[in-house]
Amino acid sequence: LYRKIREEGDRASLTQDGKKMSLLVNAGLTANVEMEQFKQGDGIGLYRTEIPFMMRERFPSEREQCELYKSVLSQHPSKEITMRTLDVGGDKPLSYFPINEENPFLGWRGIRLTLDHPDIFLVQVRAMLRASIGLSNLHILLPMITSVNEVDEAKRLIKQAFLEVKEEASSENQMLSKPAVGIMLEVPAVMFQLDQLAQRVDFFSVGTNDLTQYLLAVDRNNTRVSSLYSSYHPSVLGALCQIQQSAAANKVPVTVCGELAGEPLGAVILMAMGYRKLSMNAHSLRKINWVIRNTKITEIEPLLPEILSQQSPEQVQGLLNKYLDSKG
Ligand code: PEP
Ligand code: MG
Repeated sequence: LYRKIREEGDRASLTQDGKKMSLLVNAGLTANVEMEQFKQGDGIGLYRTEIPFMMRERFPSEREQCELYKSVLSQHPSKEITMRTLDVGGDKPLSYFPINEENPFLGWRGIRLTLDHPDIFLVQVRAMLRASIGLSNLHILLPMITSVNEVDEAKRLIKQAFLEVKEEASSENQMLSKPAVGIMLEVPAVMFQLDQLAQRVDFFSVGTNDLTQYLLAVDRNNTRVSSLYSSYHPSVLGALCQIQQSAAANKVPVTVCGELAGEPLGAVILMAMGYRKLSMNAHSLRKINWVIRNTKITEIEPLLPEILSQQSPEQVQGLLNKYLDSKG
């Protein structure tokens, strides 16, 4: 099987019945290594900008950030590159910006922190925009969105940064393209405002790691409750299905960038729901491409109602395993 995966893994991501899937990479360091592993990857679905922040002793300057982002954007000028604004807090601490809270996962995380510190947010967004001068592949992704107001406020700041950088660019006769702006769907509250959110953004990205944690009220890093943490829980799958349907109805492109997208069973169930863009760690790309090339949408779509009506994650995985086993 490994030989087959190696041989087939780099071919185009078409299902056995000819449907195109987009496979993207989750990255965080320089992204060159990640893309190198899979030449046909359709871009970077999630660039976790907090990783370079976490590796330093102080906030990187606008110029340092700009250089880093430029190296990523210009490396793949024809592929979409999705850069997520700083997602610290929770389990991602910055040594030089200590946060002490009793419930960090319910506290000052992601967009909450950066909207309270527009200075940090504006420097980062300006750096991204400067880095994108002369290019048109920048997508900006907002983490931990819980309410419509956060989206409006973040978009206002992005617009402010855009106008500043555009003025500079025009004075030097350079072109600045408007970036696509999207949000992470990872807090359960968004489930009930999908339409309002869809009207405000260019794309959705589903963070199944946090969506699972918050829907099931299970800390994703607590080993004592890890047997309760599963993205195959029928309630999580129900939410994922609803998100896909809303995105399709609102014509908003949607990617899944949580770990589920990089698991063979996860990729199959997501494809059955109608997801066509999956973003994953580079080491999962070949394996998932092999799964895609050996899966027929026309075979898995009819399995969806039965899968969604299962009562436990184990039963769901049992059914999906049966399908994959039949594929060798
Ligand atoms: C997620 O929550 O699923 C996600 C992709 O983001 P992170 O794992 O960085 O929180
Ligand atoms: Mg997350």
